[in-house]
Amino acid sequence: MRRITVLGATGSIGQNTLDVVSRHPDDFQVFALTAHSQISAMAELCLKHNPQYAVMGSQNAAAELKSLLGQQTSTQVIYGEQALAEVSSDGEVDVVMAAIVGAAGLSPTLAAIDAGKDVLLANKEALVMSGQLFIDHAQRSGAKIIPVDSEHNAIFQCLPQAAQQQVGTMELTEHGIQYLLLTGSGGPFRDLPLDELSQQTPGAACNHPNWSMGRKISVDSATMLNKGLEYIEARWLFNCSRDQLKVVIHPQSVIHSMVQYTDGSVLAQMGEPDMRTPIAHSLGYPERLESGVAGLDFTQIAELTFKQPEAQRYPCLQLAIEACWEGQWATTALNAANEVAVAAFLQEQVGFTDIAKVCDSVLQSIQADEADSLQTLLAIDKQARLAANKWLQEYAQ
Ligand code: NAD
Ligand code: MG
Repeated sequence: MRRITVLGATGSIGQNTLDVVSRHPDDFQVFALTAHSQISAMAELCLKHNPQYAVMGSQNAAAELKSLLGQQTSTQVIYGEQALAEVSSDGEVDVVMAAIVGAAGLSPTLAAIDAGKDVLLANKEALVMSGQLFIDHAQRSGAKIIPVDSEHNAIFQCLPQAAQQQVGTMELTEHGIQYLLLTGSGGPFRDLPLDELSQQTPGAACNHPNWSMGRKISVDSATMLNKGLEYIEARWLFNCSRDQLKVVIHPQSVIHSMVQYTDGSVLAQMGEPDMRTPIAHSLGYPERLESGVAGLDFTQIAELTFKQPEAQRYPCLQLAIEACWEGQWATTALNAANEVAVAAFLQEQVGFTDIAKVCDSVLQSIQADEADSLQTLLAIDKQARLAANKWLQEYAQ
């Protein structure tokens, strides 16, 4: 029996995690669930999974949850950042699913890492904004990182076992690997005429053709900044150099990513586009767990196609690739600028194509600096958010 904390339990990944966990009541016990402000969704999850702790984002949200739950569970309701860190590092916890969206997930995920937990990493922004520091902390504590993001989980599955034991530090060439191929669907605007991009609404951007996900990552998929963040994520998880990492558009989302070996072999992981597969893999590793996902019906797949991402359609992807090799300050700043820009787009304050403009402008305005401590990373994150908000204010005038 392994005890699990699910950070971001009310989200798309959180709910899918609990779906898989509830299929295996003899293997998992829910220790803690966390959510930011969704009270009724959290109440439902608490009643179903009876965690020891429920963590909310604020005192008010905690009070509301407590009154909603009444005497129905023995769950203790707590709140705030310190509480998030505690349920991530508690001595009773074995596994932490890191599924908060955005930079807010960094501190609790690092708390789990520092406590040497098995960390199932969905929260890509945490790794993007901290990079080497994140990997160093895991090295120091011995925490095991298992990628949940479908592309990285696919690559992980296609690696030899020896490399799987060296997340963050593996030497790909020593394992006979030439490069990694990240696949991406290209998002909902893949075939749209370029001059229509600027008029796209949040509703259209969140209407992903293959995956059902939270709103922020859905917008990131439409700009392909999601693939850019995943590129940076892959660089850290698999210790890649620039020529060891490629991105290809694969509209059907059947192949979730691939590994090219030096002998010419390509290993791919395939499956339905359903996050319960990588989640179940990360929960069960090295064993396989039933996930509720149906097998692939190859007779229903008419074709598998591939193409290069167009630079004009996806400027955010290019920004992310450049930032990745520019330095940690750049990826931290890009992630922060994007979070501000996407939030503004979702509130209809700016247009779809403005997201790339905000990111570009922030990257140009930030002073390149050493970013090797948590303090400096958080300072760059803050500086980038200020610069992005300034851009938005000027835009509004
Ligand atoms: P979501 O928006 O559906 O859920 C986010 C969760 O984080 C919610 O539980 C919310 O309460 C919590 N949260 C939000 N802001 C918070 C804050 N400030 N403090 C504490 N908690 C907060 O997001 P999602 O789609 O489940 O994505 C979660 C993470 O997983 C993201 O980093 C995303 O990139 C990654 N991911 C998601 C998918 C997917 O299919 N949804 C796939 C791969 C990776
Ligand atoms: Mg992904």
